Order: sequence, then structure tokens, then C-alpha cells
Amino acid sequence: MTATALDRIPMIVAGLRHSFSRGITRPEVWRREQLMRLRALLQDRGADFEAALRSDLGKSGTEAQLTEIGFLISEIDHALAHLSRWMRPRRVRVPLAVQPASARIVPEPLGVVLVIAPWNYPLMLALSPVVGALAAGNSVVIKPSELAPATSGLIARLVPDVLDRRAVAVIEGAVPETTALLAERFDHIFYTGNARVGRIVARAAAEHLTPVTLELGGKSPAYVDGTVPLHLAARRIAWGKFMNAGQTCVAPDYVLGRPEVLRALAPLLAEAVHDLYGSAPEKNPDYGRIVNAAQFDRLVAYLDDGEIVLGGAYDAARRFIAPTVLVGVERMAAVMRDEIFGPILPLVEVSGLDDALAFVAGREKPLAAYVFSERTAVRRRWERETSSGALGFDAPALHLVVPELPFGGVGESGMGAYHGERSFRAFSHEKAVLAKPLTPDTLSSTIMPPFTSRKDAL
Ligand code: NAD
Repeated sequence: MTATALDRIPMIVAGLRHSFSRGITRPEVWRREQLMRLRALLQDRGADFEAALRSDLGKSGTEAQLTEIGFLISEIDHALAHLSRWMRPRRVRVPLAVQPASARIVPEPLGVVLVIAPWNYPLMLALSPVVGALAAGNSVVIKPSELAPATSGLIARLVPDVLDRRAVAVIEGAVPETTALLAERFDHIFYTGNARVGRIVARAAAEHLTPVTLELGGKSPAYVDGTVPLHLAARRIAWGKFMNAGQTCVAPDYVLGRPEVLRALAPLLAEAVHDLYGSAPEKNPDYGRIVNAAQFDRLVAYLDDGEIVLGGAYDAARRFIAPTVLVGVERMAAVMRDEIFGPILPLVEVSGLDDALAFVAGREKPLAAYVFSERTAVRRRWERETSSGALGFDAPALHLVVPELPFGGVGESGMGAYHGERSFRAFSHEKAVLAKPLTPDTLSSTIMPPFTSRKDAL
């Protein structure tokens, strides 16, 4: 990664604005061309992206394809298949009192948008918003995460070679570069990361009245009751949790269940982890690494917050932490206060459904909640009595691969949503267009003064 010189940032943004003002990004053919070029890049240089992701996060090639490269290609294909329809103005009905007239909603690009990405899915989360931004006809600044330096460097090297440099720029760097960017005026800022920086972004955006999408995190619970086949629930929870070594914003953060359910679940989680990563995950190339020493130290400290019933091994030199399950965790322990964002899964006892619902409802709204229960009444209560970005029954994380589902948080887990058509809408302004013929003149006698004489006449 080579940080962009701070004094170049205003010039770069001005250049993109100039291109936008000239209308370069508006034609549908231009948008399609950009998306197809991005698609070709992901396909042609897939091996390079895989290598960068392995270097940053020890990510396996297959996982990189599934969760980053392939995911992006699907997003692009979906956008290409639907772009013409998304761009089309939509006619809406005009109330009788205003007729004759016609009314349409015309989507228009916002202008120059900024995408700030985090390190955990450093390719997918940098480029997925860009798919929406380009589809909607904007100029884009991409700011990848400095904490995934290999991926950031590769994006900076390859993306400007294939996309239109007049309208797309990659700025590399950390806090100083992002701060310099945030001083500029954008027409939308799309930030993915933690809520502390989310507040910094929102404050900077307010200065220019720039709208923001904030894709944040939180502690996403998984509730398990005794009505489901526990070995299958364990397998899905283990998959959702230990993918990318737990560094997934929608990973189940912790499990809630009655004591007897958790006692039965713990050994099944161990079996599931064994099935997924074998008896020596430290040697298994399918199992990821912690991104850096600071995150590693933060996570290792949580191991003291409960009794380790699975895993617990770690190796600072290789930033390895084994898939770990903790029991006997206090509700107020640090591991239950912070978003864990690593391969440590606390099992937290509740007395039953009411207790679990109250536990979740009494905390910040998470990015997702997962419920493993066969009982419709239980599912309904989770739907009605808790609020979260998404709610998954019997399956963590899968909602984000359905392009028709909005992906985003609520409250502390974020604002705004994207994916599929919503990405296009997130980066568009929906302009109201009304045409009212001058004749017949139906307005003079209805909504224009003088009103008094008419009142007298009534
Ligand atoms: P990070 O540290 O890479 O930060 C994200 C971005 O913010 C980076 O580009 C970084 O340069 C920038 N940044 C950091 N400090 C800044 C500052 N002081 N001023 C301006 N910019 C600054 O990533 P992170 O925040 O550690 O990411 C992890 C968090 O992101 C977790 O909370 C996770 O749940 C959340 N997340 C959410 C989603 C989602 O889609 N909702 C996806 C992934 C991660």
C-alpha cells in the first residue's frame, strides 16, 4: 500500500467532479462498460486478488471466491441484467384535483460519491458499493482499508487501469488520508466499518449536508431452542461464526439458549468445527488468520471471560486463534459488551424465550439476529419483539446473498441499505417530475386566490 499524497486529494476530487459535470458518467453505455470491465478484472485477475486476500487475512482461495470475488461478479451480473429497468422513469398516478397532468419519478446520479471500506472483506466491501455507484452513473472515490494493505494496493494498482480514470479514483491511506477526503464535499458517503468512525464520518458529512450510508456492526445474537436438530444448528452456527476467522460483520456473535440446550450444543459445535476445519485448524488452509496484532491481542484477552470448552489455542507469531467456544460467561463480561469480531463464541444461558428476547431487546440493535427454532410462535415473537438489520431463521449470513433483500443495519448497526436495486437507489436521487398543461386552466378556479370572493359565493 502506498498512501496517496494528501495535497493531491482535493485535485483528484475536483477532477472527478469536472468529469461528472461534463456528463461522462450518465449514459447507460458508459455505466455498462464500467461494470463489464470491473467484471472482467475480477475474473482475469482472480488469482491475484486471492493471493492478496491470503496475505491480508490468510483467506482460502475458495472462501475468497465465494465471499468476495464471486459475490461481486454476481452483483455485477444482477446490475447488468436490471440496469435498464432501474434507470427507466416510473410514471405515478396524479390525484383528480391536479389532472390533467402527468407525473414521473426520474432517477438521476448524485454526483461524486465516496466509498470507505473496512479490512475484513477488503475487496468485496470496497467494490460492492462501487457497483451501485457506477450503475447509478456517479463518479467514485474508493478508499480501501489500510489494514488490508495487500488488497488495498492491488485495488489501487488494477482498478484505475480498467475503469474510466476520469470518473473513478482510488485513494490509499489511513486516518490522515480519510480525514483529508472527508473535508471534501461529496454527494454521498458510503462507509462500512465500526460505529466510532461511523460517527466521525457522519459529523464530517453534516458539514456539507452530504447524505450517508453507514454499514456498521454490533453483537448479532443466535438463539437456539430445543425444537431444532441441534447438530444441524451447530454446523450452521460454526460455519457462520468461524468463516474468515470470525471477522464477519454478520457472524453470530454469541449464542443464547436454555442451560440444557447449551449443554447439548457445545459438543456438537466441537464436532461441527472438526468437520469444517479438521483436528488441527492451525494447519488447515481453509481457516483464516486475525488481521493484525492489535486485533489479536484484543481477542486473546476475551479468552479469560469464560470457561473454554473448545479451542482456546493461539499463536501470536501467526496471528492464529483456534475456533473457540466459551461457557459460563457473565452477561456483563467484556466479551459480552464489545462486538467480538473474531473466532470466539460465548454460549450464554437464558431461562427461556422471554429472557432471551428481553436480553436482545435491552441492548443496541444488532446487524442481524438468528433464530433456530421450529416453532412458528417463537419465530413470530423474534420478528415482532426485537429489531435488527436482518433476521435469519436457521441460517446465519445468507440473507446478504439475496439481491432483493436490503442489506444494512438499524440504530447502532447503521443506516441505509444496499445490494441489488437498493444499491442503485442508494446512489441515485429520485427526482419528482410533474407536467401540467397550461390549458385547460383548471388551477385558477381551484387553488389560486382570490379566495374571499369564492368563500362569499359558498
Ligand atoms: P477499519 O479499521 O478498516 O476502518 C474502516 C475504514 O475507516 C478504513 O477505510 C479506515 O481507513 C477508516 N478510518 C479509520 N479510522 C478513521 C478515522 N479516525 N477517521 C476517518 N476514517 C477512519 O475497519 P473496522 O472499522 O475495524 O471494521 C470492522 C467493523 O466494521 C466491525 O464493527 C464490523 O461489524 C463492521 N462491518 C460492517 C459491515 C456491514 O456491512 N455492515 C461489514 C464489515 C464490517
